[in-house]
Amino acid sequence: MSYLAKTDPQIADIIEKERLRQLNGLELIASENLVSRAVLEAMGSVMTNKYAEGYPGKRYYGGCEFHDMAENLARDRLKKLFGAEHANVQPHSGTQANMAVYFAFMKLGEGLMSMKLTQGGHLSHGSPVSFTGQFYKVSQYSLDQKTEMLDYGIVDEMARKEKPRIIVCGASAYPRTIDFKAFQEIADDVGAYCMADIAHIAGLCATGVHPTSVGVTSFTTTTTHKTLRGPRGGAIMCNSEYAQAVDKAVFPGMQGGPLMNTIAAKAVCFEEALRPSFKEYNKQIVKNAKVLADTLMDGGLRLVSGGTDNHLMLIDLTTQGITGLEAETVLGKAGITVNKNTIPNETKSPFVTSGLRIGTPVVTSRGMKEAEMRQIGGWIATVVKDIHNEAVMKDIKMKVAAMAGRFTLYPD
Ligand SMILES: *Cc1c(COP(=O)(O)O)cnc(C)c1O
Repeated sequence: MSYLAKTDPQIADIIEKERLRQLNGLELIASENLVSRAVLEAMGSVMTNKYAEGYPGKRYYGGCEFHDMAENLARDRLKKLFGAEHANVQPHSGTQANMAVYFAFMKLGEGLMSMKLTQGGHLSHGSPVSFTGQFYKVSQYSLDQKTEMLDYGIVDEMARKEKPRIIVCGASAYPRTIDFKAFQEIADDVGAYCMADIAHIAGLCATGVHPTSVGVTSFTTTTTHKTLRGPRGGAIMCNSEYAQAVDKAVFPGMQGGPLMNTIAAKAVCFEEALRPSFKEYNKQIVKNAKVLADTLMDGGLRLVSGGTDNHLMLIDLTTQGITGLEAETVLGKAGITVNKNTIPNETKSPFVTSGLRIGTPVVTSRGMKEAEMRQIGGWIATVVKDIHNEAVMKDIKMKVAAMAGRFTLYPD
């Protein structure tokens, strides 16, 4: 940042403060990750200077020969990573990847079926505040009340009744394994498409740590910045029969010029994800999550569904008599960044909530292992059970900084 510090010291100072916040704190937000220096370099490169509307070999602008090479590499690497027949790496975000699939395969007013937001779903799956909730006839399934896990009988029954055009599976706050095959079979039975949105678990799916949806469901959408550990962005994978419709829906359907610096960085990310070490990384994410979950439960906290199979867990704070907002605030004072989250059968507003969502992708990228998870779990339980004790928060904040500062911010 030496050049920026000279030309724009104000923004350079802000970026430096953010770097220190990331370095000295513990980021436990389940949807976040850290990228490598190689990804950062590609994102900060001259690839940002170009308009490249269209696709490799069919651009609407001259001078795209190197952009074609970069996008071809990104597509080929993503296809190899997931064993996909077709990949589109242009969506600017996960939401835009979903928008493109809806736009390609569903008319206005047709049926969209998905998991309820309060049960773990995503805004772009038909929430009334999203265009998806206003343009489509939305029906939403809940989890089993008792187990707080997916019940495929509930999904099947709703699909038969609602006859949706697209059934969405995949979630933002679901700590358990998703059976993509079961979803596709339900969709087949009612003549629907099945779209798996693996935004959160893409890294786990790519490495076999969670069963993959690619080659199983009609479409797979994802973000590239969560467990996949790349630049912020989206991607779509599908069989060749849907390739043309998907590509047309992304451009010119949903977007103009692609972010070519981001696409170059996606290519870098996918190459990193093809290395054996990325599989080890994803295995460690899940190991860390299990140890953290066990530590929290040993500390007297209740987890939704009683644990985790993936990279995240949900703490139900109703037994503690505090809200998600309160817990998020006090943990923030202790240097631990988490987000409040609704839990199944939520009674509070999304700004208050009764839960916390906690994930291990970032701390695992920093190189932390089981021992650190036990330490972190202990700190969280201590703070959450004693939310008016400012001295405890201050003490833990110092310990957090001392521990976190020993770990890298730049995974290989
Ligand atoms: C994060 C997420 C998205 C959206 O990603 P953005 O890039 O923020 O638009 C979509 N679907 C699911 C399930 C997600 O968790």
